Amino acid sequence: RAKDLGKSRHEVFTRGMHTQVVKRFQIETDLRRALKFQEQKQEFYLEYQPIVSMENNTTIGFEALVRWQHPSHGFIPTNDFIPIAEDTGLIVPLGKWILQEACCQLSVWKTLFPVDPPLTMSLNLSGQQLTQPDLIEFIEKTLKLTGLEGESIKLEITESVAMKDVETTIDILLKLRSLGIRLSIDDFGTGYSSLSYLHRFPTNTLKVDKSFINNMVETEQDMAIVQTIIMLGHALGMDIVAEGVETIAQQEKLQALGCEYGQGYFFSQPLDSKSAMLLLDAQFHN
Ligand code: C2E
Ligand code: MG
Ligand code: MG
Ligand code: MG
Repeated sequence: RAKDLGKSRHEVFTRGMHTQVVKRFQIETDLRRALKFQEQKQEFYLEYQPIVSMENNTTIGFEALVRWQHPSHGFIPTNDFIPIAEDTGLIVPLGKWILQEACCQLSVWKTLFPVDPPLTMSLNLSGQQLTQPDLIEFIEKTLKLTGLEGESIKLEITESVAMKDVETTIDILLKLRSLGIRLSIDDFGTGYSSLSYLHRFPTNTLKVDKSFINNMVETEQDMAIVQTIIMLGHALGMDIVAEGVETIAQQEKLQALGCEYGQGYFFSQPLDSKSAMLLLDAQFHN
């Protein structure tokens, strides 16, 4: 019996493995195809999630989030394909498309809504994108093409990406800062990070990971963590964005703690381009 059990387990294991490998390979193949034909087929598109001032609930900018509508499998969750795009290097050309698309979009919105402070666009940057030799050149070119200042965009990197090679990271981040580009540490509190390095990164913003915001009202420890991250960020001269704000109780507590900005379903889900424009219109043109 033990032998049978062992055998069946083995089979399930290999079958599971097989399915997973096939699925990964399929996604990789499809990603490659989708990227190649993006101009004609537009399987990728962006959604824009408002980043909101805690003080008066106005949208000060957006985070661009990539979406993939697969022709036969439908909508593929971002967390299912971004890691594969990262492993295969496809995140580099995909990331270039995302940057261009988001900058074009922001340029249109800035013309329609010339508000003060000017609207900003936040973009996620994977480790591989950060260390691409032509990163700075490509960003400069994209800014020029879309008529944007460096100050208009904000790049988000996670702690783990930043910590991978601290000196190289600092060097690249300083070059980005010299273009006026602003920088955020994303998902703060979940990655591998060292507090002794944090102050050396020329970053403007800490984004508190949504896992801490989730239970901050119910759980004392999470509240303490959120409060400590906010104090830490402020002590290092950074402003704070709370991610994943879903309730008014969280919003009120965060505001009381001095958190400057929020992002989450309480304010708005990620929106397609048209809905985001309608939101801006409702906010600024009435
Ligand atoms: P992230 O950068 O931390 O983005 C925030 C994620 O939280 C998004 O998931 C967003 O839809 C989700 N979210 C926002 N508000 C709430 C809320 O109130 N509650 C909950 N439960 N979730 C909320 P999404 O779009 O699935 O993206 C997942 C991750 O994939 C992102 O995490 C980012 O790391 C990566 N990603 C997304 N778009 C891009 C991209 O264009 N380039 C790169 N390199 N990575 C991306
Ligand atoms: Mg992000
Ligand atoms: Mg995040
Ligand atoms: Mg994340």
